[in-house]
Amino acid sequence: MRKIGVLTSGGDAPGMNAGVRAVVRAAIYRGLEVVGIRRGYAGLLDGDFKPMALESVGDIIQRGGTCLYTARCLEFLTEDGQRRGYQRLIDADVDGLVVFGGDGSFRGAQKLHNLGIKTIGVPSTIDNDIGACDANIGFDTAVQTAIEAIDKIRDTATSHERTYVIEVMGRSAGHIALSAGLAGGAESVLIPEVPYKLEDVVAKLQRGVARGKKHSIIIVAEGAGHGGEIGRYIEEHTGFDTRVTVLGHVQRGGAPSATDRVLASRLGAHSVELLVQGVSGHMAATQHGELTSVPFDEVFQSDRKPDKAVYELADILSI
Ligand code: ADP
Repeated sequence: MRKIGVLTSGGDAPGMNAGVRAVVRAAIYRGLEVVGIRRGYAGLLDGDFKPMALESVGDIIQRGGTCLYTARCLEFLTEDGQRRGYQRLIDADVDGLVVFGGDGSFRGAQKLHNLGIKTIGVPSTIDNDIGACDANIGFDTAVQTAIEAIDKIRDTATSHERTYVIEVMGRSAGHIALSAGLAGGAESVLIPEVPYKLEDVVAKLQRGVARGKKHSIIIVAEGAGHGGEIGRYIEEHTGFDTRVTVLGHVQRGGAPSATDRVLASRLGAHSVELLVQGVSGHMAATQHGELTSVPFDEVFQSDRKPDKAVYELADILSI
């Protein structure tokens, strides 16, 4: 192993920069050359490479987003695109690649591994839906961002004695909604993994108001329903003054939390270590806090589901 490439792909996640910094510095520490590949697989196909020196990753550990930019690239879904990407790496003498991203990015990484490039994935998605590891980079920050918004909305909900429906990110995963719902003391949490009935949500709201509750917060993951429609349903069926806030992309940005910076730094450096050891087609991960690696095939079969006990706890505590 003499030269490694690093790219960020798919949805950005706070902490990707800390991860890229760790890859670059751990590689240089080991005497390797590093190239940054901009805009994910799109930049790979375009040959958008830049040499990375120690100082090229200075002052980014605290920044959200990704200094390498990210993209979605349809061409890389094709065998022809994958072969062209492989050839770009061969032409640039890159013998190892670190890919920060989610499930789709790992599938692309596996294709490069199959073609013969040593490849390691680093789980980076605010959705936290990549399994076989303790956590995905960006999730902790996204939950913190959601909580800060929920706390602020709660202040105004209390003052005006209103019901608020807050839609958080998570098209197919309810992790942000569940953690933010439990930590934010929401009355109901609606996630794609657990079927729900709006009649039950309404009945719970009405029980709370009958007991003297002055305001209520409902958290809905975007994949579990449309915040606006749920708000309208609640208002029509209760007569309660109901407002809707969609948090949207604020949850993707912002300075990464200390937890995400530590995770990204450990996984970034570990991915270099794995490449040096000749490991390929694996995801760098922590399991029970220990660094390890998991074959992509295993990762693809182990998407993380929200903890049922935590879901039930959120319900019990908001009775
Ligand atoms: P994420 O990595 O956040 O899940 P995407 O699913 O959008 O994001 O994937 C990011 C990129 O990875 C895609 O635009 C595509 O270039 C590449 N990719 C996704 N799935 C595959 C696949 N099955 N084979 C090859 N490349 C893929």
